Amino acid sequence: MDLEQVKGDITKVLVTEAQIAARIKELAAEIDDLYKGKDVLLVGVLKGAVMFMADLSRAIQIPVAMDWMAVSSYGSGTQSSGVVRILKDLDADVLGRHVIIVEDIVDSGLTLSWLASNLSARGAASVEIVALLRKPEAAKVDVYVKMVGFDIPNEFVVGYGLDYAEKYRTLKDVGILAPSVYS
Ligand code: 5GP
Repeated sequence: MDLEQVKGDITKVLVTEAQIAARIKELAAEIDDLYKGKDVLLVGVLKGAVMFMADLSRAIQIPVAMDWMAVSSYGSGTQSSGVVRILKDLDADVLGRHVIIVEDIVDSGLTLSWLASNLSARGAASVEIVALLRKPEAAKVDVYVKMVGFDIPNEFVVGYGLDYAEKYRTLKDVGILAPSVYS
């Protein structure tokens, strides 16, 4: 979906479709260098990472496998508690494989930190995280995100997989949602 369709709902475009495409090429090249000759499993976190996973995986030149997880974090209201429930587990076995968790956005980092230790405990050879977007809060927790597309301000964003009440996921750019939409 093009921005024109929801222009009134977006106060500012933070990352354009073209910027995302260019950055994904760089991230893919980095993954090609780091993981050449290794058994790599990309693990996408549903549903927000679908667009990022689809574009990143095709930009990567080395052979990689793809799998998906869906998790929900318990918490009060908008606050993530770090307690995570698996809604959909991996089909693949991670034992001895190099796992790259592909995530849309890191905010508190609590969900990702849980996910990374969960996959490590299953015997993965390595577990790293690549996130398209990172908010300032993420710097405060002890979750090491190996690769980040863009650092963004602490605003609620939608587009390129990220939703508000299942809307705006198919928007090509990432933008700040107007507070009037959710208040
Ligand atoms: P955390 O890092 O706090 O554990 O949670 C990250 C998750 O919260 C992301 O995967 C995403 O689903 C959601 N999230 C965090 N910030 C935003 C945002 O600005 N917009 C949207 N749509 N989701 C967000």
